[in-house]
Amino acid sequence: MIPPRTFDLAVVGAGVIGLAHAALAQERGLSVVVIERTDRPVGASIRNFGHVGITTQEGEGLAYATAGRGHWLRFAERAGFWIRPAGTMIVARAEDEWALLHRFAELRGDAVELLTPDQTRERASIQDPRLLGSAYCGNDLRINSPEAIPALAAHLAEAGVEFRFRTNVTGVEPGLVRTSRGDVPATQVVVATGHDLDLLFPELADEGEFQRCLLHMLETNAPAGSHFDPVILTGTAVMRYGGLSQHPEAASIRERMQRDTPELLEAFVNVKMSQRPNGRLVIGDTHAYAHTHDPFKDESLDTLLLREFAQLLGAPLTVRRRWHGEYASAAAEDFYVREPHPGVFVACVTNGTGMSTGMGFAESVLDRM
Ligand SMILES: Cc1cc2nc3c(=O)[nH]c(=O)nc-3n(C[C@H](O)[C@H](O)[C@H](O)COP(=O)(O)OP(=O)(O)OC[C@H]3O[C@@H](n4cnc5c(N)ncnc54)[C@H](O)[C@@H]3O)c2cc1C
Repeated sequence: MIPPRTFDLAVVGAGVIGLAHAALAQERGLSVVVIERTDRPVGASIRNFGHVGITTQEGEGLAYATAGRGHWLRFAERAGFWIRPAGTMIVARAEDEWALLHRFAELRGDAVELLTPDQTRERASIQDPRLLGSAYCGNDLRINSPEAIPALAAHLAEAGVEFRFRTNVTGVEPGLVRTSRGDVPATQVVVATGHDLDLLFPELADEGEFQRCLLHMLETNAPAGSHFDPVILTGTAVMRYGGLSQHPEAASIRERMQRDTPELLEAFVNVKMSQRPNGRLVIGDTHAYAHTHDPFKDESLDTLLLREFAQLLGAPLTVRRRWHGEYASAAAEDFYVREPHPGVFVACVTNGTGMSTGMGFAESVLDRM
């Protein structure tokens, strides 16, 4: 019997983190196999806003997102998927938000442009009468994740990466990946299973206090005659992005929300929106943390999101699709890397920014291997 081929690198999981490792390793000349339990990527990586948000990251995340920008542009060109340097617009509708955006602009220099209400409306149809202005982050990118992630996988397959879909990984040992369809020998292994790390390495997930963060998302029609090129963020973004939450004004925004709209804080709402190439809006999101989530979608959360967007856009939105997404959340680290066995690396972005930071993060993991 011919012994099975030994790959230089086996990647477990075909989400953005697994594919980023596969793509960059293949560029480095390694033979790569990607093992994925479903028949195509359907995890967090196709359920998101497609926001490659660089400017609002901080520290390690900012470094990874900055490094990742060029990788996204290069892979989009090679794989032929849609990408737009559309930027991010952070909208201010209260004095404390506007003050925070001034601080943010000082911190980021040329990467942020402050816009008046009229300039804001020229770039995006924000109709809330409370609009005071916005910060425009021109380096940020927008992709259509349900198209881009499968296109990246297809491109890698054409370029020589081997894909084993519908193959569940049941264990990983030094030099060997055990799967539901037999063993796969590999000199090195990257485990990029996202929020399902606890199923393969429960002790690591326990030690890192991993949980599943569950998000409500909606796709709606855009109001007639509206235009939205940039990804839109609002005051709730201070709860989620280090580049914003570090400023003293963030505390007063949080206090004001606690007083005026506690329901937004209770549901960890981030009022955020991006537009698909077909014109529909992807709106969200809410956040809930647990090891296992209740399967029943609570309509009150969608109602809350729709209320917020009706205010922001000045018109009620017609829902076309609804879904849940889950990503891994960990207590202490945003960028989780462990080597549980020699040559076996577990790699996970645990702060919900994998589309933005995953490419640069994967590059740093490969550099360590
Ligand atoms: C609703 C939502 C909105 C978001 N918005 C943004 C955004 O706009 N910008 C941004 O930067 N980030 C965003 N994020 C975060 C980002 O999507 C995630 O950080 C990223 O997609 C995680 O990628 P991943 O590859 O780790 O996980 P996944 O995409 O979930 O991929 C993991 C893969 O591993 C496979 N797998 C698991 N276990 C096994 C096994 N035992 N054997 C074989 N295969 C296995 C799964 O089937 C899956 O395909 C969002 C996330 C969600 C959920």
